[in-house]
Order: sequence, then structure tokens, then C-alpha cells
Amino acid sequence: MAEVLPAADRAAKLALLAGEAQACTKCGLSDTRINVVFGSGNPDADVMFVGEGPGQQEDEQGLPFVGRSGQLLEQLLGEINLARQDVYIGNVVKCRPPKNRDPRPVEIDACKDYLRTQLKLVQPKVVVTLGNFASKLLLRTDTGITRLRGRPYEWWGRFLVPTFHPAAALRGSARVLTEMREDFQIVQAVVEGKLQRRQPDPEPEQVPAPPPDPEQLDLFS
Ligand code: URA
Ligand code: SF4
Repeated sequence: MAEVLPAADRAAKLALLAGEAQACTKCGLSDTRINVVFGSGNPDADVMFVGEGPGQQEDEQGLPFVGRSGQLLEQLLGEINLARQDVYIGNVVKCRPPKNRDPRPVEIDACKDYLRTQLKLVQPKVVVTLGNFASKLLLRTDTGITRLRGRPYEWWGRFLVPTFHPAAALRGSARVLTEMREDFQIVQAVVEGKLQRRQPDPEPEQVPAPPPDPEQLDLFS
């Protein structure tokens, strides 16, 4: 199984990595960022959210999901009796893509070791991927979020719940928000221990099941 360290040690390692990341120049996004937005929240959280990348307000404040998407995320959390400080929040890329363009494959690749280490240190019961970039990266699939969402996936001995990005709910139809609420119900069921791990569902063929021994390979490629 994964490294089992006391929560305090995992929190300390996370803080150390956050400090190191502040000076990161592993990709070109370092040229235009104001702040590296490493992630924030409870380092021992049951629930870890993975967004896409910082927007303008996140870049200015150095914190994830502090703009309008963050407000919606907090509202949805409140509806399942969770507060922001209960969960851990990170992103696929830690620096803002200029004009909020999509992160490029080379940038995602350069940044993913940070996310991998965050996941290994927080050890959440459930990972919630917000939108296409996080969902496709962690599930190693080209299938879009609309088809992926609506069910939990067994993922490296924990659950992964893909859902829409809050920005999609803000600009989209009421249906997007309704479906996000359904997905958050799944998250709540995991947190409350109502969803036990079992043999994985038959996976859509676009979603390769993780290899049997997590220590042989890494969480995502
Ligand atoms: N959108 C994201 O994907 N991440 C943030 O931190 C803020 C908005
Ligand atoms: Fe480093 Fe990630 Fe920022 Fe690129 S996006 S500079 S890899 S922290």
C-alpha cells in the first residue's frame, strides 16, 4: 500500500513542497504568473478537489478557487455539510495560463508531479475532479466529463468522482448544476461511509483500470 505516515508528517511534507513550488520554473507559465497557487485546505482531508488551473483572482491571491467558481464550490460543499477548510483543494496546473486559456499538454506534464505528491500526502477517501482536464488526467481517458460523470470510480484504493467544473455551471444550463449536486451526493455518501469499496464496476473501455500493483506504477502517467 501507499506510504503510511502520521498526518502531522504528511502535512509538514506538503508545506515543504508548497514552499519549493513557489520558485518553480518547470514550464512557461512561470513567466506570466503572479503567484504559484499550490493548493490549500486540510492536509488530512477526506475529500480532495482537483480543478484545472488558477484564474485571475487565484493568481492574485495565491489561493485556489477564490473567485466565482470558488463561491459556487463552497455553496455545493455547504449543501453536503462540508466547509472549505474541511477539504483540500488543488489544481492540475499551479500557475495561471494567460487569459485563462486551456493548459497545454507540456504544462500539465511539467506540473503533474506536484499533484501526484499532493494526492499521496493528503490520502483523501475521495478525489473529486472538476471538469475535463482533471478528470481526463486522473482517469487516463479521452472520454469527456459529460459521459464520465454521474458515478464513482474506484481509483488506487479510493474513490474518484468526476464532475463538471463550477465555471461550466455558472455559464451553462440549470441542468449542469443539478448534475453537480447529484455528483456531490455521491461524495457525501463516501464521506459518510455509505459507499464501500467493492470490485470495480465494468469500466467503459476508454477508462483503463489501474494496474494491479499501485507501487509498481504511478497514480497517473
Ligand atoms: N478554476 C480552477 O480550475 N481552479 C481554480 O483554482 C479557480 C478556478
Ligand atoms: Fe511549475 Fe506547475 Fe507553475 Fe509550470 S504550472 S511553473 S510546472 S508550478
